[in-house]
Amino acid sequence: MARIDLVDLAHSYGGKNAPEESFALKPVTMTWRRGGAYALLGPSGCGKTTLLNLISGIVTPSRGKILFDGVDITTQSTEKRNIAQVFQFPVIYDTMTVGQNLAFPLKNRGAPKREIEARVAEIARLLDLTPYLSRKAMRLTADAKQKISLGRGLVRSDVAAVLFDEPLTVIDPELKWQLRSKLKALHRDLDLTMIYVTHDQTEALTFADTVVVMHDGRVVQSGTPAELFDRPAHTFVGYFIGSPGMNIVPAEVKGRQARIDGYTIALNRSYERLPAGAKIEVGVRPEFVEVAPPAPDLLAANIERIDDLGRVRIARLRIGNIKFAARMPPGISIHGDVAGLKFDPAHVHVYADSLLVEGVA
Ligand code: ATP
Repeated sequence: MARIDLVDLAHSYGGKNAPEESFALKPVTMTWRRGGAYALLGPSGCGKTTLLNLISGIVTPSRGKILFDGVDITTQSTEKRNIAQVFQFPVIYDTMTVGQNLAFPLKNRGAPKREIEARVAEIARLLDLTPYLSRKAMRLTADAKQKISLGRGLVRSDVAAVLFDEPLTVIDPELKWQLRSKLKALHRDLDLTMIYVTHDQTEALTFADTVVVMHDGRVVQSGTPAELFDRPAHTFVGYFIGSPGMNIVPAEVKGRQARIDGYTIALNRSYERLPAGAKIEVGVRPEFVEVAPPAPDLLAANIERIDDLGRVRIARLRIGNIKFAARMPPGISIHGDVAGLKFDPAHVHVYADSLLVEGVA
């Protein structure tokens, strides 16, 4: 396994002279730790596959460098990079048995027979494929075939990294849930650097120690699931992660106060020098805003409906034209269609042109 460094890496399918705003991957500099479990998360078209294909060598970057353990491999072929890749759809040999399919990447590299047998047995056991080892792959279900693909990606212990591109897309929902947890356990057992591309936040948050969020060709934040939840570095992260996502509301911010729709709410940090002319917004997750009966000192919101999610109730509200979600504390009921909102200042963040402003504690 390798440590992977991306240095000012960028890619444009329209040639390197195209305007930077049109790049499929805007310049990024970052490090992926040896043995880390990463998820690359973002909506369709944000550049995840482009970044993955740059790392594997399927695509050559328009700009920048990629280093594996300090060695520049930017122009090296995919084969020389020593990467295993698992795609959305099974890539297996139908006429071979499950065992032969799993052994193939090792055999191809001339691994000793005994090592092949031991590793195939281990991977088959970890993926619950042992009973199928001598069966022809052809007769198996799409789920089982994709498990074999996963196994083929994981079978070599000497790869620089294993890259997964939405590998659970074809898997039935029940098995998907099991495999997600299994991949996490496999990462612990096999000690490999793994990068897992997905547009599904649950998949990303269950699998990864570090989630790298992409938006419009840019890496907007890289952090633990807790960091992404607690302090989104970009309004997109706040909105994309969490269910419902973070509330983002235009505000006037001065010192330790924000004014939203004529009401003042307290902030935990002081914001003295916000960039001139920037779009200023306040972001707060629904979990940290409580619905209360209306009161003169509380921000007023119109109740549209209450969603009962079992363990919590989420009120769907409107502040003027802006949609807003907030937690309904147990036992409370509001008469009429107007509520007051109580904010937890420790969890209210300020954004300038979509980027988190640190403020002074
Ligand atoms: P998805 O989940 O839909 O695969 P993604 O996040 O993986 O999306 P990419 O496939 O990396 O995103 O695409 C990023 C941008 O680059 C998109 O605008 C896409 O249309 C464009 N793109 C991707 N591959 C090519 C290509 N071979 N030629 C031209 N443009 C491309």
